[in-house]
Amino acid sequence: AIHVEDLHKKFGSLHVLKGVSLSARDGDVVAVIGGSGSGKSTLLRCINCLENPTSGVIRVNGEEIRLKPDGSGSTVPADRKQIERIRSRLGMVFQSFNLWSHMTLIENVIEVPVRVLGLKREVAIVEAEKLLARVGLLEKRDVYPAFLSGGQQQRGAIARALAVQPRVMLFDEPTSSLDPELIGEVLGVIGGLAREGRTMILVTHEMKFAREVATHVVFLHEGRVEEEGPPNAIFGSPKSERLQQFIRRVT
Ligand code: ATP
Ligand code: MG
Repeated sequence: AIHVEDLHKKFGSLHVLKGVSLSARDGDVVAVIGGSGSGKSTLLRCINCLENPTSGVIRVNGEEIRLKPDGSGSTVPADRKQIERIRSRLGMVFQSFNLWSHMTLIENVIEVPVRVLGLKREVAIVEAEKLLARVGLLEKRDVYPAFLSGGQQQRGAIARALAVQPRVMLFDEPTSSLDPELIGEVLGVIGGLAREGRTMILVTHEMKFAREVATHVVFLHEGRVEEEGPPNAIFGSPKSERLQQFIRRVT
């Protein structure tokens, strides 16, 4: 589960997140939508501790990320070990450049389980092969990322994220750098995870997909939650003028 309360993030004088609150309970699939620059990636990056919030509370699986003042009005993690532990149980998939290019696909998938979580290599390989089979890439196990299509790379990235047995998955526009004909195969894998009841926060521009798989939709506008609700309400009867405009623009 993820719980975010009154999250603020400033980059210098740029106030990007202006008090965002959001919850994903276990089994929730929360879709985050909104225009470019509205703060979607920054929100995910704060949850994953890739950015330090200016203020606010973030709880991951019940554990609050401990922050301390950095002396200039923002925060830094109070406990590096805690950050590592929390991050090791989150699976994050970005827009692109997910796989390490100097490792084969299977090496990518076993890297964190072996090096960070201390799994035996042989055990990690058995698990990795199951995950690669699941995303349809077992026959590519010894291939380097440069020899995979974009869709295959993203499916590989999902297998790698799953290898840490994450309790929550974070997706940041996992299909937006893909050619149109490759989007379906990646959405297929994510949709399967959603239907399995995996907890996830999914930033996406694929509105039809969000409507299908999300249990809850959050619309961000200029760093604030402008409107949120079940997918049918958000897409079928949006209340705010800005959300109506956004939906007209992107669908
Ligand atoms: P997109 O749909 O284009 O991915 P987004 O909603 O993910 O947009 P963010 O990437 O969160 O938007 O960026 C929000 C704002 O914060 C933008 O104005 C961006 O330029 C700014 N920003 C993001 N990261 C940084 C950074 N490291 N330093 C300074 N400004 C940043
Ligand atoms: Mg983004």
